[in-house]
Amino acid sequence: MVHQFEVEENVYSVVASLQEAGYETYIVGGAIRDLLQNRPPKDYDISTAATPEEIREVFGRRRARIIGRRFQLVHVRCGKDIFEVSTFRRAPAEKSHEPQTPGARKIAALEEAENMIFNDNDFGTSEEDAWRRDFTVNALFYDPVSDELIDYTGRGIADIESGLVRAIGDAKLRFEEDPVRMLRALKLVGQYGFKLERKTENALIATLPHLELASSSRLSLELEKILNSNYTGSILQAITDYGLLKHFLPYVARADERKRWEKSLQLLKVRDGRVAAGYYRNSASLAMAALALPFIDTMIDGNYRLQYAQAPEAAQTMPEMWDEENLRQALLTIYQPLAIIKRLNCSACRMLAIQPMLLGRNNPRKVVRLRGFAHAMELFKVQCESGYLQCDTQFITKWRDVIINMGGVNRKDAGDADRNGNAGGENDNASGEYRKRKRRRHRRSNHRKGAADLPGQRDSGDLGNSDLQLGF
Ligand code: ATP
Ligand code: MG
Repeated sequence: MVHQFEVEENVYSVVASLQEAGYETYIVGGAIRDLLQNRPPKDYDISTAATPEEIREVFGRRRARIIGRRFQLVHVRCGKDIFEVSTFRRAPAEKSHEPQTPGARKIAALEEAENMIFNDNDFGTSEEDAWRRDFTVNALFYDPVSDELIDYTGRGIADIESGLVRAIGDAKLRFEEDPVRMLRALKLVGQYGFKLERKTENALIATLPHLELASSSRLSLELEKILNSNYTGSILQAITDYGLLKHFLPYVARADERKRWEKSLQLLKVRDGRVAAGYYRNSASLAMAALALPFIDTMIDGNYRLQYAQAPEAAQTMPEMWDEENLRQALLTIYQPLAIIKRLNCSACRMLAIQPMLLGRNNPRKVVRLRGFAHAMELFKVQCESGYLQCDTQFITKWRDVIINMGGVNRKDAGDADRNGNAGGENDNASGEYRKRKRRRHRRSNHRKGAADLPGQRDSGDLGNSDLQLGF
């Protein structure tokens, strides 16, 4: 089917180079799903008949780097962009011989028991590749050179039009093979308002506890992607509504924490709205802090901060700052068993630590200069806008005046350590090597996964339009 999409020049060039070298190549996955919905793609995934080594030969070692074990792929650099290029896969082959080592036997036993896939490196044709993808809406292939759109499952386009998430093949088996697909399905529900197709829905409900079998690193990565999206609140709402939360974030899903979790969802929805409206840039660490805040308020000072905000005259003074070590421990508890990467944790701790100071009687000019202030201020606004913090207007007026007098917030002080962040100097132990690694990661991730900064939102760590709306 001929279908004309506008794709970025660099992605076109990578596809064309592989095709010129004789390899069938397409843009695949979420980008095509987004283009069909008239949304700008978050990133582009490319799939090709070339093996990882052949891809590296086409682009050279300096531009192409093979990564991954469970699922090998190549990062190809083109100008300032880096694209993920994967080789067409087919469903994993039947096991033909007995595993030899204890480790291999353990994995084989697990695979047998749970149908889980641990290795996904059997190369195949483009059609085989489409059938091993998760959902019909994610299995469309587009050739930007010939303008051809291929829907191998025959249902992808129709399912996008009717907003249906339909597993490819036997839905229950597909969720058992890789339980992370359940989160991926609910991401589509939260993000686009898609519905689960009936069989897919029944299979998901029957397979919920399997999520606990997925590795903690993959679940952490998935959570990071959710925090990095502009739809964190609605995705976590879908995960809650389907009963998956207790297998994903068991602490926040406890029955006695229900009220606090509802507040978390509310805070996240407000922050999503502010990102969508362009008031502040997308920040995973800010989402991480917003999710945790209702739990933190109870854990750290028994909700004293919330009471103080309402009636500061009646209360005693606010503590200067929340202790970062206590916050770190609290975040570990809230996000258990997931190991949220350290740089998100540091940034979230910093903006949380400042929260009581925004209500206190400290020297405001000093507070504004604290590392992490811009994010802390945005988190404060999110709390005010959502009604979580019923704050006396004197605080709002005070910060508006201080920030205006100081000519805005120093962007460098955004204190952000997110995947997609661009503010510097935020790590407490920022050694040269750490900074180098971080720069590399930024370069990679900006064009690979979850680089959700929208144009024009990158630097809104200073006073923005929202400030007027909120009376700041
Ligand atoms: P996003 O817009 O969030 O990037 P996406 O669908 O592109 O969404 P990716 O993680 O980039 O998500 O994956 C690219 C494609 O790879 C998917 O569209 C899907 O076809 C396939 N895929 C990813 N993860 C899985 C999985 N666990 N099982 C099967 N196919 C998968
Ligand atoms: Mg993608």
